[in-house]
Amino acid sequence: MGCVKSEGTMSPNGPNGLDFNPAEVMEPRVPQVIPKDAKNGGRVKSADVTPTGVYLPNDNYMTPNMQSPDYVQISTAAAITLGIMSAKMYRCSCTRCLNLLLTYPEGCRANCAYCGLARHREADRDYADRNFIRVDWPAVPMEQIVDIVAEKGEHTPFHRMCISMITHPRSEDDTFAVLKKWTDKIDPDTVPVSILSNPTTMQRADVQKLHEMGSDIFTVSLDAATPELFDRTRGKGVQSPHTWKKYWEILLDARDIFGPQKFGAHIIVGMGETEFDTLTLVQELVDMGGHSHMFCFFPEKGSLMDHLPATPRDQWRRVQLGRYLIDYCGQRVSNMKFDEHGRVVDFGMPQGELDAIIDAGIAFRTSGCPGKFADDISACDRPYGDSPPSDIASYPFQPEAVDLRRIRYQLDMEKPGEPYEDGEELEFI
Ligand code: SF4
Repeated sequence: MGCVKSEGTMSPNGPNGLDFNPAEVMEPRVPQVIPKDAKNGGRVKSADVTPTGVYLPNDNYMTPNMQSPDYVQISTAAAITLGIMSAKMYRCSCTRCLNLLLTYPEGCRANCAYCGLARHREADRDYADRNFIRVDWPAVPMEQIVDIVAEKGEHTPFHRMCISMITHPRSEDDTFAVLKKWTDKIDPDTVPVSILSNPTTMQRADVQKLHEMGSDIFTVSLDAATPELFDRTRGKGVQSPHTWKKYWEILLDARDIFGPQKFGAHIIVGMGETEFDTLTLVQELVDMGGHSHMFCFFPEKGSLMDHLPATPRDQWRRVQLGRYLIDYCGQRVSNMKFDEHGRVVDFGMPQGELDAIIDAGIAFRTSGCPGKFADDISACDRPYGDSPPSDIASYPFQPEAVDLRRIRYQLDMEKPGEPYEDGEELEFI
């Protein structure tokens, strides 16, 4: 089965002519010293501007003094879907997941190397003005969000709400408060709730309380696939407080408390791990009864990894497909074959079966907590959160024939007589 391009035809978009991001290339920058007056949201606090209604990033001279639980930030896609911003998204009408990101003038106190919200950015951007997964996040009064969603009742376009915690001393208490504001007016059976947790400041009792308060799924953003990579990108390597051990402690608590199929972990692909590393972790999560939600590494502007290459699509597609086979098709990583670089060279499946799974297209859609369509179709479609629309990594919509030809080209599995012509899907713009 030809799933890895030969030396002569390797993807031109990988570093050094490779079709994967190797560990030695993916070295984060060292965080710079932050001026004293900018530390801990110093500029925002000293100006002390009172927020009035919705705050669009970069709109004001000075970012207002906004705090959760009264305020949360939402993605640009969610703001469009809610009717708070007017714009159009390439090939998708709306997002089905409403992510509520906690917000404070001090922002996140962690310093993860790939993240636009990281603490080192205090030097040049106030928290509410920072880009995150490639887009701006308007800050909106929580009451306004709840009222808009509650008014639509069962006709809401949202299939799920997700509270995204950050690393902050008030993160747990404000997550409880945001969840309570939501469930006071919105039935969690109508719009189920997920928690994207911040294990560093959490205890098992917090996980228990979130379950008792009506949340449906609990996820842990491991992000890095190995302990070494975790330390390099989220721990001591970048003066950040997270540890692999604590993240796993809370993940195991979530397994016990939320139960099978109701917990999971986020993994970013292409930060220097191998495909074998990632798929081994995916298998471990499945064997525990959970799921993996996957992101393709993209060099977020302003982050400590913004000088590094995005994940070559070859690597990304192989891992996307491998993850789908393990998570939803009963395949095991032990049945797959890998080369000396840890790349998948055989998915361990008859080509006919593999073809049917590729052609269904679901494996290449955004992964995340399920919505109302099917267990393997994520509510969280995060439109263009891990790639530009011109080179889609996670499809926020069902891939069409032209997309599947491109995906097959990236997998080096083109069907005879069905070649992909570079850029042909862009006529949809
Ligand atoms: S804890 Fe989360 S929000 Fe904070 S820097 Fe790390 S990835 Fe970003």
